[in-house]
Amino acid sequence: MINKLTLIGVGLIGGSLVRALRHAQWVKEVVGVGRHVANLELAKGLGVIDDYKTDPAEAVAGADVVVLAVPLGAMKNIMQEIAPHLSEKTILTDVGSAKGSVVADAQAVFAGRIEDFVPGHPIAGTEKSGVEASFAELFQQRRVILTPHETTSATALGVVREMWQVCGAEVIEMSVAHHDEVLAATSHLPHMLAYALVDTLARMEDRRDIFDYAASGFRDFTRIASSDPQMWHDITMANQSALVEVMKRFRTDLEQMITAIEKGDSQFVKQTFERAKKARDAFCDGK
Ligand code: NAP
Repeated sequence: MINKLTLIGVGLIGGSLVRALRHAQWVKEVVGVGRHVANLELAKGLGVIDDYKTDPAEAVAGADVVVLAVPLGAMKNIMQEIAPHLSEKTILTDVGSAKGSVVADAQAVFAGRIEDFVPGHPIAGTEKSGVEASFAELFQQRRVILTPHETTSATALGVVREMWQVCGAEVIEMSVAHHDEVLAATSHLPHMLAYALVDTLARMEDRRDIFDYAASGFRDFTRIASSDPQMWHDITMANQSALVEVMKRFRTDLEQMITAIEKGDSQFVKQTFERAKKARDAFCDGK
């Protein structure tokens, strides 16, 4: 059991993590950190955290584990604030959706003691934000990717691995570059498409009719466009190169589809749909 966990960023992911850890009785005391006292009071009232601080440096004193669960753009500043106050035994981890940027931030800030930092990313979430949307079951039967460096301490890695396993997650390890390429394709590209589609339609002259007659397919496809814009801005900027690569690939395929439709190439259109249906059905069947 961990004595003290400091959670910096008490929102959907951080809140869900500590709810699950409390449920599993893996942690004795959770101290939350945020900029807004009202949110921290809410988290305390909900029983997610025991206490809170608005100063990250003060909050990490005596912590066994520190979890960074803020948007990617805020990671480096927080690291700089806490670095001089981390004890020798403190293990640091994060939940950021892109790993290259967080690892670069950590290398710049913790140059001398990067071995106690275990980068992580739970592959679970919703389009909602904030501690009020958090729930203990979020990580059950979901994957968590850790991207340790070759110098990451085995103790730190073991503790962070166990932290996610007690939440019901399957923990896997990957290189930073591979993580960012895979997530660019499976998560970041779909968010770009959903945001772009809704924005295009919302700026069309007959948008009122378009949205009035939109049905469940539109709702399914665009659910993730309700995700927090600041968070997705940060992810987009943090995973720029892998994301642009896969977006260009998608643009080429989309252009081919436009040409096929213009030319009335029904074979191309049908074959594309058949391939996609087969791939999606297999994904849904867990194959
Ligand atoms: P969230 O619900 O908005 O929570 C983030 C928390 O961070 C907020 O409660 C906020 O509290 C604090 N915060 C925001 N900006 C800050 C700043 N500039 N400095 C300090 N604190 C700040 O977001 P989330 O969905 O939990 O996402 C947190 C992290 O998890 C992100 O790095 C994201 O990439 C990653 N992630 C998200 C998902 C998902 O589906 N949502 C999935 C996997 C990973 P205050 O406003 O009180 O400061």
